[in-house]
Amino acid sequence: MERIDARGSGRERHHPRNQTITQTPRLTYTAIFEPAGIHHSEEFWFRDYGRQTLDMLPIAIIRKRASRRFRKPELKRKYPERIESKCIEDMTKTHQHPLANILESRIAIIDGAMGTTIRTYGMTEADIRGERFKNSSKGLLNNGDLFSLTKPEMIGDIHRRFLEAGADIIETNTFGATSITQSEFFVDDPREHGGRKDPAFYQKVIEDPFLATLAWDINEQSAQQGRKWADRVSNATSRQRFVAGAIGPLTVSLSSSPDADDPGFRVVTFDQVKTAYAQQVRALIAGGVDLLLVETIFDSLNAKAALVAIREVFDEDGKELPVMISAAVGRGGETMISAQTTEAFWNAVQHVKPLSVGLNCSLGPDLMYPFLEELSEKANVAISCYPNAGLPNPLSQTGFDLKPQDMARYLGDFARAGLINIAGGCCGNTPEHIAAIAKALEGQPPRKFGTPLTEESFAQQIESRA
Ligand SMILES: [Zn+2]
Repeated sequence: MERIDARGSGRERHHPRNQTITQTPRLTYTAIFEPAGIHHSEEFWFRDYGRQTLDMLPIAIIRKRASRRFRKPELKRKYPERIESKCIEDMTKTHQHPLANILESRIAIIDGAMGTTIRTYGMTEADIRGERFKNSSKGLLNNGDLFSLTKPEMIGDIHRRFLEAGADIIETNTFGATSITQSEFFVDDPREHGGRKDPAFYQKVIEDPFLATLAWDINEQSAQQGRKWADRVSNATSRQRFVAGAIGPLTVSLSSSPDADDPGFRVVTFDQVKTAYAQQVRALIAGGVDLLLVETIFDSLNAKAALVAIREVFDEDGKELPVMISAAVGRGGETMISAQTTEAFWNAVQHVKPLSVGLNCSLGPDLMYPFLEELSEKANVAISCYPNAGLPNPLSQTGFDLKPQDMARYLGDFARAGLINIAGGCCGNTPEHIAAIAKALEGQPPRKFGTPLTEESFAQQIESRA
């Protein structure tokens, strides 16, 4: 197996069994970074994938592979019943994702902002267009997700820098990679010709083959780029890293009308939004993400459509990944468009049984604190927190106020208050910010959180409130 140094300086060969990438109280994971099923002998697969991947692979694949294994009589002879029963036990109990194991023992680090970091590379309109989009009629420079297609080496470099800064989780460059958001850059705005954007307009967007292909390509290739760098740096640093498929808000809202005279009007329908998100989710999974992250939630109903899309894709494709959910809140702790309080927001999404819930973006860490405290008190899953680097400041190089040491201080305070399990930064946070945050949180115990809610205990909780 080839191991490529994270800095790209050398290629070494290692025997995979000698690579121990992370230790948790439960398991030693042996690093094998080949996709499941590639040229390992069955025997080898069982010993090493069996240890590592029973936790990592989607359960459907594990079941399929393991059951095939047990049909082979010679392997049954080789492996004593003890091992066989251990394997069956592993497959029947609810599997805990390796990231969930990490969250029990320490605070995991999530990366900083792709958008503000891209800005420091001085890219031009010609750079983002490349060959593929050179004849596009609208300006594309604000459509940063396209860089995954036209400047993949820059996106890879940003992933590498965040990983080397200490990020356990990197996000794909797919914040706006739905057909709906991409339509802003590629479809004529009917409002410029006296028309309006409405469900008929967005139906065409959803069905547009150019936009569907574009959204698929951005998501799949961004996921592959994240996967490549997460695996390289995992391998080089003996620490497992994870790729979160970033699912952003949209440029349209299901909760509010753009027309003050027609408050019942919606430009788009729930099913249209769900369809656009389902396309995104499928492509992210196809590209190899470990997790799905519905983030910067301004509008809870848009987020609901994303979460329903995720559930449907899991059910239809027979593959399930952990889900992280993160809202952006204003001064009163309300989601910025749908105006749900933090607790209401948690109540609206907890049925998804996410790996984590949290706050990101927003107005920076200090204004976020009381709402993080509230969420941490109410939610019984891991809490994530990756705020903007303060408020926008056009005079600052990153466009935001806070420096690496400021972010480190705030997130260190949150950790000491026992509020967080996953920490990082949103807009204005560069790899230097993430390095400072990672250093400040080293050795800080994670917030303690309870076992996931069952349907029964959830019903009891609702009853007790009534
Ligand atoms: Zn942000």
